[in-house]
Amino acid sequence: MALRNIVKVNTEAESVLYKKTRIVERFDEKLKQLAEDMIETMHEANGVGLAAPQVGILRRMFVMNVDSEEGDYVIINPEICEMEGESIAYEGCLSYPQMFGRVKRPLKLKLKYHDLDGKINEMEAEGLKARCICHETDHLHGIMFTEKVIGNLVHESQLAEDDAEDENDL
Ligand SMILES: [Zn+2]
Repeated sequence: MALRNIVKVNTEAESVLYKKTRIVERFDEKLKQLAEDMIETMHEANGVGLAAPQVGILRRMFVMNVDSEEGDYVIINPEICEMEGESIAYEGCLSYPQMFGRVKRPLKLKLKYHDLDGKINEMEAEGLKARCICHETDHLHGIMFTEKVIGNLVHESQLAEDDAEDENDL
């Protein structure tokens, strides 16, 4: 396994964050290696989600770990098929260090995706997990959360204490 560099905004490499990704068609060893590297990189950065464009790879794929008991997920070719409710909360991004903003996301959703073996899976998610899936799926369409922020971006030092528990890097 190897750590990958996380592409940050306001750097030379940032253009990759605004590009669309290609669907994954080959479920081979190289893909498994990428998934392992992305998981390691996400944990090292204390994030709960990381999308392939954030490590410079324009493939439709992300990893997440919003609940240590559930462990790591590798989500390939995600399609959000049903959404329910609304939730507005602070979120951040490993590509935009220390800045947070309130974003409206669905409370619950259903997701179809491929796993690393190319098998189709379905998942129901709510709360932070649903938020993470939306944030990462946006990355795969070249959309940064900052495009959806309601109000201002705030530095983490300015977040009120009761907001701090919502603060997650995705
Ligand atoms: Zn992000």
